[in-house]
Amino acid sequence: MKILNPATGLPVAEVTPTPVEGVDDAVAAARTVFPGWAAVSPGDRAKLLRRFATVVDEHRAELAELSVAEAGHPISLARWEAEHVRDVLNYFAGAPERLLGAQIPVAGGVTVTFHEPLGVVGVIVPWNYPMPIAAWSFAPALAAGNAVLLKPAEATPLTALRLAELAVRAGLPEGVFTVLPGEGPVAGARLVEHPEVAKIGFTGSTAVGKQIMATCAQQVKRVTLELGGKSANIVFADADLERAAATAPESVFDNSGQDCCARSRLLVQREVYDDFLALLEPAVAAWRVGDPNREDTQMGPLISAAHRARVGSYVDEAEVLFRGSAPAGDGFWYAPAVLAAGSPDARGWREEVFGPVLSVLPFDDEAEAIRLANDTDYGLSGSVWTRDLGRALRVSRAVQTGNLSVNSHSSVRYWTPFGGMKQSGLGRELGPDAPLAFTETKTVFIAH
Ligand code: NAD
Repeated sequence: MKILNPATGLPVAEVTPTPVEGVDDAVAAARTVFPGWAAVSPGDRAKLLRRFATVVDEHRAELAELSVAEAGHPISLARWEAEHVRDVLNYFAGAPERLLGAQIPVAGGVTVTFHEPLGVVGVIVPWNYPMPIAAWSFAPALAAGNAVLLKPAEATPLTALRLAELAVRAGLPEGVFTVLPGEGPVAGARLVEHPEVAKIGFTGSTAVGKQIMATCAQQVKRVTLELGGKSANIVFADADLERAAATAPESVFDNSGQDCCARSRLLVQREVYDDFLALLEPAVAAWRVGDPNREDTQMGPLISAAHRARVGSYVDEAEVLFRGSAPAGDGFWYAPAVLAAGSPDARGWREEVFGPVLSVLPFDDEAEAIRLANDTDYGLSGSVWTRDLGRALRVSRAVQTGNLSVNSHSSVRYWTPFGGMKQSGLGRELGPDAPLAFTETKTVFIAH
């Protein structure tokens, strides 16, 4: 597989895709090391994960450079990614010592519960935030005592391969965390089908997520799904309009819109619709798209030429209100676009574009805002802008979404649960309970 730098279109590396037999060999190797890893004392497992975090920290500049090269991320974002992996590892390093079962006295004896690791688990991730999303699964899975096989996306295997090397350098036993670069329908599909893989933690498109869930169903294999989104940013007339407009670009253009939490549907109360767009236009014009290596760059290129063509198809068929800028020349550049949706049936309003494209629609009142926000198969993230606390709470509770921010566009904090409602996913990642999703709870009754 040729890995291209999205900012230049030029190859940066070649990686050999893992064939089906390679996956089988990796599963067999992981099966062999799993019992020893599961038997490591909680304190020692915690120390190894903290050591892994330290080694990631020592290599954070190199990891950030790799992310710039393979994903085209601006350097500031790429640095955050490496630091985030370190923080996620440190957070879940606290888990092994806290994965305690319960002792429940009952008539004639006592019941004891154990949180046992599942065994070998597969993690399949997309290309948009390759390192952080992988860490959200591999860190809690390792903390719970599992052996992990990670299948990165075709476009972005370099950071994942490096993280696996750093794990070994930190002292994790070989085979406990293995990266299998390769094609989704080959290496990914084999991981999902393999009878000795106990769970799949999948992040990616809803279409592939459905296939994976169907395959897992054949073996009642455990599965967590983090899928697509089409999140709403709801701006009420009583909001701080300047702040809402100043932050709306980052809520959808961050990472070139290649973000499952992108607020790609902007709902603005009709009485302030024109005023709001007048504030939004200069904010979009000021959004800095360009060389990922520049410190002040806010947005880099899209991941590939094919993806750019797909993103462009939504813009070409819509009424464009205004656009930002993008560099000319090689690289998969695309200027951010703001579209008048016109109708809630418009393709750009309904489908996940996964690019720097924002669709706007006016609404009349709170009930209509909630109805339009919920008129989607997705339910991952969203924002509500209002100065009315009661309204903020009412709307937050009524919008069917796994994560929502009031007067903010925050979605992910590693210490709180993250995941989607409806077709945006199944299960939750992050937060204190995440390691439990990589365990089985066993109940043992001991008679006295
Ligand atoms: P994708 O579904 O095409 O691919 C995701 C991963 O699945 C890749 O590693 C791919 O190789 C693999 N894959 C593809 N076909 C497979 C198969 N048949 N069997 C097993 N594995 C297979 O998604 P993408 O284009 O890489 O990523 C974009 C999507 O990811 C968007 O829909 C986005 O919203 C979603 N996403 C969701 C979250 C979340 O947390 N909810 C986070 C990031 C991205």
